[in-house]
Amino acid sequence: MNTAKIKQAATFTLQSINQLLWPPVCINCGENICETDKSLCQKCWSELLSCTGGDYCPCCGKDASRYGLLDDACPDCQGKEFHFDRIARGGVYTQALQQMILSFKNGRTELDSTLVFLADSALQASSFYKDIDFLVPVPLHWTRRLKRGYNQSLILAKKLKHPTAVINTDLVRIRRTKSQPTMASPAARARNVAGAFAVRYGHRFSGRMVCLVDDIKTTGATLNECAKTLKEAGAAKVFALVLAVAGQRKD
Ligand SMILES: [Zn+2]
Ligand SMILES: [Zn+2]
Repeated sequence: MNTAKIKQAATFTLQSINQLLWPPVCINCGENICETDKSLCQKCWSELLSCTGGDYCPCCGKDASRYGLLDDACPDCQGKEFHFDRIARGGVYTQALQQMILSFKNGRTELDSTLVFLADSALQASSFYKDIDFLVPVPLHWTRRLKRGYNQSLILAKKLKHPTAVINTDLVRIRRTKSQPTMASPAARARNVAGAFAVRYGHRFSGRMVCLVDDIKTTGATLNECAKTLKEAGAAKVFALVLAVAGQRKD
């Protein structure tokens, strides 16, 4: 046997031993999987695909047939004003995608590659992909970032593949807010985040095209408040990219 063949055989043996000792499991649910399934089991793959397909409204991100849109807005969004101009989403906040996002926020940062893949696909398919100058992660208050150890939106933003847009962290959270899921109504959520954001001195948002990056959009109060702050700072347009949109009409 020549050296290359010996190396190949050794690698193969090592891989087999690895598989015996640490059989591959689904990164989401922990079920055993075969090597060909990559990182997710069949059930999680099919759930993920069913939450990520389908058309949605580019204003609110909720499920909507493209034929039901009027001026790029679903019936719910007609006549409504948002501070962000358009939204792109990875999928609907349910099933495997919901579990993966929750785990990602609770320390399972190894889920980032699958989630970033979804976010990247959504961004590339969006109408604003070519327009954006800055990717701006929705900031956490420093006390929450300290508790969690990281800002999940910054991890996502940093891994997105964009040929020209750069990360900008000059949007900051200046007030600690209550956790949005504890807020019952959309109005209460909007009040909770009102005035919670500001831009750093010396920011470069003036006249620029900005894309906010976040994990979940529920009522959109947080994204709206961030977009309002960025526009007050002179941003020309503010778009949003989220992994998932919650609160579908069919729920
Ligand atoms: Zn699974
Ligand atoms: Zn809509």
